[in-house]
Amino acid sequence: MGPFRAVKGVQDVLPPDVFLWQHIESIACDVFRAYGFDEIRPPILEHTEVFTRSIGQATDIVDKEMYTFTDKGNRSLTLRPEGTASVVRAFVQNGMHTLPSPQKLYYMGPMFRYERPQKGRQRQFHQIGVEAFGISDPKLDAEVIAMLMELLRQVGLGGLSCEINSLGCSKCRPAFREVLVKFFTPKLGSLCTDCVRRHNENPLRILDCKVPGCIKERKGAPAATDHLCGECREHFETLQILLNDLRVSFTLNPEMVRGLDYYTSTAFEVTSTDLGAQNAVAAGGRYDNLVKDFGGPDTPAIGFALGMERLVALLSDKAVSAEAPVLDAYVVSIGKEPVRKGLVIAERLRMKGFRTEVSYGSSSLKNQMRRADKLGARYVIIIGEDELREGMLSYKRMSDGASGKVSASEAEGLLSTDKNN
Ligand SMILES: [Zn+2]
Ligand SMILES: [Zn+2]
Repeated sequence: MGPFRAVKGVQDVLPPDVFLWQHIESIACDVFRAYGFDEIRPPILEHTEVFTRSIGQATDIVDKEMYTFTDKGNRSLTLRPEGTASVVRAFVQNGMHTLPSPQKLYYMGPMFRYERPQKGRQRQFHQIGVEAFGISDPKLDAEVIAMLMELLRQVGLGGLSCEINSLGCSKCRPAFREVLVKFFTPKLGSLCTDCVRRHNENPLRILDCKVPGCIKERKGAPAATDHLCGECREHFETLQILLNDLRVSFTLNPEMVRGLDYYTSTAFEVTSTDLGAQNAVAAGGRYDNLVKDFGGPDTPAIGFALGMERLVALLSDKAVSAEAPVLDAYVVSIGKEPVRKGLVIAERLRMKGFRTEVSYGSSSLKNQMRRADKLGARYVIIIGEDELREGMLSYKRMSDGASGKVSASEAEGLLSTDKNN
């Protein structure tokens, strides 16, 4: 049998690439914490209905892309294609609506879609997302959008802009839907087959179609924002005022509809022009009916998700790199007894938090020094028969070649003095 290969459409993330992933994840945790969000870790596996019910039948995800299988108990299970449905399921199942409002949660992890793998599209991909429950006030919308912008700014992405739209609520959306159906009925012959189907099932999604013929036909299509009820209009206007207060730059995009059925009211998408072209990096919106659809009490909610692969690619192209962990010390030891002592010294330094390597073989002093240099060690600690007898350690500071002898406890002090320089 030949060597194993990863499953088609999934990828390993290896060092040093992983340092950029950790950099983003660590900043995300800090930013989310500052805004009062706590982590939730829902399972990757859900009953298929969790997604068919929420995402909607007439969407590409449910129609074509779900990673669904039947398990040995004859249950239909699906590897999550996105995070929101799982978090809402968990929110309802765990009675989190009884906790103080709002409940603000974030998640990070792999998602799965069964589609043809291509550049930038894998069957296993990763998202960071947030969901906030229990508040319908646009203050929450503004806060969530501002938090997303701050996160992207902190990880090193520039040229950020936010497009916003309002998709209306269960009161005003049906009327808008009728207007859209009427607008597209005489154009049905020129729409793609997907859009002909959407015309019946979810005409809003025609506004989202990427087929050039459909883009042409939807010129002059009615905008959701012209058909909002008083409540939705006020919500949308207040949101814009608050975003201005928070100095979040945004533009109105009446054509933006989120691809999934559950979105209501505020929808937003953040793009970056940092690399010339406009790249979408994150998107989100309100889904005020989803908790109720899942059998919970009427609970407004809003969230967003950002794609890690896209963000990592953008940052890499921009040459934003996260530094590899620095090796504080490399312990060189020569001779049987010194090698044993060297391991004890390394253990002591590691317990103090110093990243420390030892020589595992019995190579020469010269070879060990060369390896220490190759690993970028800040200090080399040397233990030979002399040092063992004296109860001291020799050291060499690699930055300037300074050397001397110290006791084990002095070595710890030496390593910490210029740790962050
Ligand atoms: Zn409305
Ligand atoms: Zn179309």
